[in-house]
Amino acid sequence: MTIPFFPPDLFDRDLLLEVVEQVGLTADQRFILGDRTAEFEAVLRGSLGVADAVACGSGTSALTLVLHAMGVGPGDEVIVPAYGCAPLASAPLLLGATPVFADVDPWTMVVDPAEVDKLVSGRTKVVMPAHMFSVMADMPALRRIATGAGLRLLEDAAVGQGGVLAGRPAGTWGDAGVFSFVQVKTFGMPGEGGVVVTGDVALGRAVRMLRNHGQDGRQRFVHHRIGYNSRFDEVMAAFQLRRFTTLPDRLERRARIGEYYTDRFAGLEGRGVLAPPPGRDGRCFYVYSLLADRRDALRDHLTARGIGTHVYYQAPLPRQAAFAGHAQPGRDWPAAASAARRQLAIPIHPHLTDAQVEHIADEVCRFTATSGPRLEEAR
Ligand SMILES: *Cc1c(COP(=O)(O)O)cnc(C)c1O
Repeated sequence: MTIPFFPPDLFDRDLLLEVVEQVGLTADQRFILGDRTAEFEAVLRGSLGVADAVACGSGTSALTLVLHAMGVGPGDEVIVPAYGCAPLASAPLLLGATPVFADVDPWTMVVDPAEVDKLVSGRTKVVMPAHMFSVMADMPALRRIATGAGLRLLEDAAVGQGGVLAGRPAGTWGDAGVFSFVQVKTFGMPGEGGVVVTGDVALGRAVRMLRNHGQDGRQRFVHHRIGYNSRFDEVMAAFQLRRFTTLPDRLERRARIGEYYTDRFAGLEGRGVLAPPPGRDGRCFYVYSLLADRRDALRDHLTARGIGTHVYYQAPLPRQAAFAGHAQPGRDWPAAASAARRQLAIPIHPHLTDAQVEHIADEVCRFTATSGPRLEEAR
């Protein structure tokens, strides 16, 4: 049995061909920002109960558009997690602002609100937490910090779509939230795309202008401000509209696999493998990530048994060559460093059969039963 980490058969070929044909054969030949994009935005807006949803070129550019619309620029600081994906650091930097890295919670790997609180300064403009793997950031605490300090809160929910915390959906906790639709994400599609959702009408309007060269959507070639090309594709919009109704089923399957794993791994902490916290509140089940003391040995064990795994971030963001020169000198991010050494993701995609899921869980358990520290290491 071979179980790839990234399933090769993510999308239905017939649906792919059908939407290409549908958009291609429409008389107006409109391939970007047409009626289907508008309908997709309306569906997202309605399902989340937000004032605006603006589809754009990627999750990364969604973050950039929001930061830009919030007026972030040179001299400003944006507090971001020290562990996570590159755009958390690069989006502020490309606008001339400084990312200020906050350490994460050593178990859940999301940013620690107490660390964020310590880093607020007179220059801070935005707090930008991100949901990680299967756990949503502590949005109530981060909301309190942002509101208390008069800061904007940008919720990077690129991996959080479908998650709910204390009755409130991921993406709706911040002044704006961002989702990504890149292939591997929970609501992935066969291309690049993202969306900004917001309850702030003025912010939504600014993002809408910025995504299409500063135009207002009514008059072409009239540019109200300096903008970007970050538009949404009509074929992708047609595809997402067709898949939206079945998203809850896929999310449920992911959640069940995640719960099963967490149940099976409950006793492994003393054996060097730590599962994410149990429960469904504040969970998103994008990726199921273990923390393993002997991560590479566990990875080899699973690989040898045909089970694909993935190591996401081998270093904290402020230790990456690209960002180290912009990190606060003399600071340390021990929890991020520990996560980078121990994190290992196992398959959770909804195509897995029950037998495959059981096999994966069996092999993780077998590894911990047979592989205590070797004599040399114990000494
Ligand atoms: C994937 C991801 C992004 C970027 O989304 P893209 O659509 O790939 O640009 C941003 N933030 C986080 C936390 C992500 O996981």
